[in-house]
Amino acid sequence: MKIVLIGIQGSGKSTQGNLLQKELNVPYLSTGHIFREIAKEHTPLGRYIKEVMNAGYLIPDEKTLEIVSSYLSRPEYEKGYVLDGFPRTVKQAEEFVNGINYVIYLKVSDKEALWRLSLRNDEAREDETLKAIHKRIELFHMVTEPVIDYYRKKNQLVEIDGEQSIEEIQTEILKKIHFA
Ligand code: ADP
Repeated sequence: MKIVLIGIQGSGKSTQGNLLQKELNVPYLSTGHIFREIAKEHTPLGRYIKEVMNAGYLIPDEKTLEIVSSYLSRPEYEKGYVLDGFPRTVKQAEEFVNGINYVIYLKVSDKEALWRLSLRNDEAREDETLKAIHKRIELFHMVTEPVIDYYRKKNQLVEIDGEQSIEEIQTEILKKIHFA
């Protein structure tokens, strides 16, 4: 089963992704996590990614597509995966032809998202400054919401109210992807 999780920052994608990987028995992959690992490297690419991420901007599509494709070509992702954070631009969605079964959209209001992010206080993340958070949310509305429409038109979108409890959300997801 190949699943994509989409939703605003703080919508619970990684929480649900981690739960889903256990239920579906496929690996969970977060592009934010991949990029945070690359950003630790003392290489020109590492320094570049770190700078882009800390400002709250997106890594360019070509680079993102190249990195994600090289990960997904590994044998452990062959039978399926839960992907969080990608595709997040229409170009990424158009170029990523990979037999996705469902795109799960965790719908959460800006107000709730900002509230949750203010509680997150993740010291390991250098992009959790107020300025970078606002930029990331702005980019979500500008460039990622069109991706939601893209998959809606393709009838692949599963829309979930992300303001329910963690358990209720998980139950609803499993039901809607016909796994429970
Ligand atoms: P969030 O969803 O809270 O913004 P992520 O952990 O998903 O956090 O991503 C962190 C950062 O990694 C993004 O702000 C962006 O710089 C980079 N990134 C992650 N996924 C992508 C992607 N698909 N395309 C471009 N940049 C990405």
